[in-house]
Amino acid sequence: MQGDFSAHLKIFSELGVKTRLVRTPRDLEEIDGIAIPGGESTVMSRLSERYGLFEPLRTRIAEGLPAFGTCAGLIFLAKHIDGASQTFQQTTLGVLDCTVARNAYGAQRESFQTRLEVAALGDSIPATFIRAPKITAIGENVEVLATWQEAPVVVRQSGIMACSFHPEIEGESRLHQLWLHGALGLER
Ligand code: GLN
Repeated sequence: MQGDFSAHLKIFSELGVKTRLVRTPRDLEEIDGIAIPGGESTVMSRLSERYGLFEPLRTRIAEGLPAFGTCAGLIFLAKHIDGASQTFQQTTLGVLDCTVARNAYGAQRESFQTRLEVAALGDSIPATFIRAPKITAIGENVEVLATWQEAPVVVRQSGIMACSFHPEIEGESRLHQLWLHGALGLER
């Protein structure tokens, strides 16, 4: 419904994964996993509530639907948002046990690219941070798959995986593959 979903669609189709866009509760019926893109998490919250998608989506993920979120997608999945600068209450799905601080890696013009070591991939990957959220706390059941300047930037909690940055922008597909492999049992 919002954000850079077409970059994710491109990656999944290159990997031979069948995709569909999810905008309404009916769209949830035939999916085995959901990717929530980068974009604007406040808009995702509002639109998903308006289309009646918020509650069914929250329930399905809580009941085990695998989910992969990048940047705004991470915020939308997270349990808590660091509230210091919050002027209004932002609703999140609350299914990933972590706290995030929105825009904590700087404003749009402070966007940056780096490479991150991901032990589970045995390699480093390119990572683009754009008004990216910082993960400031994680629950005991959350695994850290990569860090940047000592903060977790890729995390996983059973079938839910999320990252602060955008692998999809550079067509980097290995985190998508890791999620597909771990959460849906699809071969890499
Ligand atoms: N800052 C955005 C938000 O709060 C996320 C930015 C992004 O997805 N690149 O939702």
